[in-house]
Amino acid sequence: MTSSLQLRSFAKINWTLDVLYKRDDGFHELRTIYQTVSLHDTIKLNSTSGEIQVICDDPRVPAGETNLAHKAAIALREATGTGAGVRIEIQKRIPVAGGLGGGSSNAAATLMGLVRLWGLKVAEVELLELGAGLGSDVPLFLIGGTLLGVGRGEEVYPIEQCESRDIALVNPGVEVSTAEAYTRLSRLTMHRGALTMPFALLAAKGIRELPLRVRNDLEDAVLPAHPEIAEVKRRLLSTGARPALMSGSGATVYGVFDNSVTLKQALAEMRGLGFWAEGVRTINRQEYQRTIFE
Ligand code: ATP
Repeated sequence: MTSSLQLRSFAKINWTLDVLYKRDDGFHELRTIYQTVSLHDTIKLNSTSGEIQVICDDPRVPAGETNLAHKAAIALREATGTGAGVRIEIQKRIPVAGGLGGGSSNAAATLMGLVRLWGLKVAEVELLELGAGLGSDVPLFLIGGTLLGVGRGEEVYPIEQCESRDIALVNPGVEVSTAEAYTRLSRLTMHRGALTMPFALLAAKGIRELPLRVRNDLEDAVLPAHPEIAEVKRRLLSTGARPALMSGSGATVYGVFDNSVTLKQALAEMRGLGFWAEGVRTINRQEYQRTIFE
């Protein structure tokens, strides 16, 4: 058994996000295609004699029991009955509350890291259930690559990989809470689940098939309330991104470029305007699982 570990905690974008209807339990029924990308936080795990601690270099991230990585450690302890402890150090690079799943990714990486650090035997299905209990976006990060998400997004199915090397992530610095985005959502698509499934088939045809079809229903709710995000999307489109779409509940917008030259030009323009901007590529499932442990 090892006493310390370091992990990459990758970000995700949503190639598509359809909000179908509000369910009786208050959650919205979704159909989404997730994609893990190369931007990542770094998580260091060190064994302790029993206590669980979280420290993070970003003051906007809660350090105590409300941190999702802390919750992940507690949930795993309760599920397995181990008394082991851990000090979790998070180095943040993923924008907080940015629609890139940063907190959820930290929780998933912590779960996978602790199984190894604490020398536990946990079935993959049990880990997925634990993850779903922590948050709708956690299970996707236990698998990685291109995935179809249904239900609240917690029920994930690996699908054919959709690859792209030249993606810009741009964040105007506003925080959008996921709850806020859904509260503002007045007009639901109401299309039937089966009719949204062909979006998943498009992923198999590759990124070039997606631009005309991608859609995020939450844009209708978030863009009017946050003109900065709408501006980022407009500027990404004007620099040649196809498509440019808000990720999750925002505030990050991603843009897919034809090549690295146009991507670099767009990144320079966005940074010149004062936006946070980062060039990333997709991380497929094999690479995800191979590189999560540093
Ligand atoms: P999602 O798309 O999964 O809803 P997001 O990418 O929009 O999430 P996160 O970066 O996950 O947003 O943060 C959402 C909130 O969760 C933050 O405002 C923060 O207070 C809280 N949080 C708890 N733990 C973490 C963590 N480890 N990293 C980032 N935020 C965290």
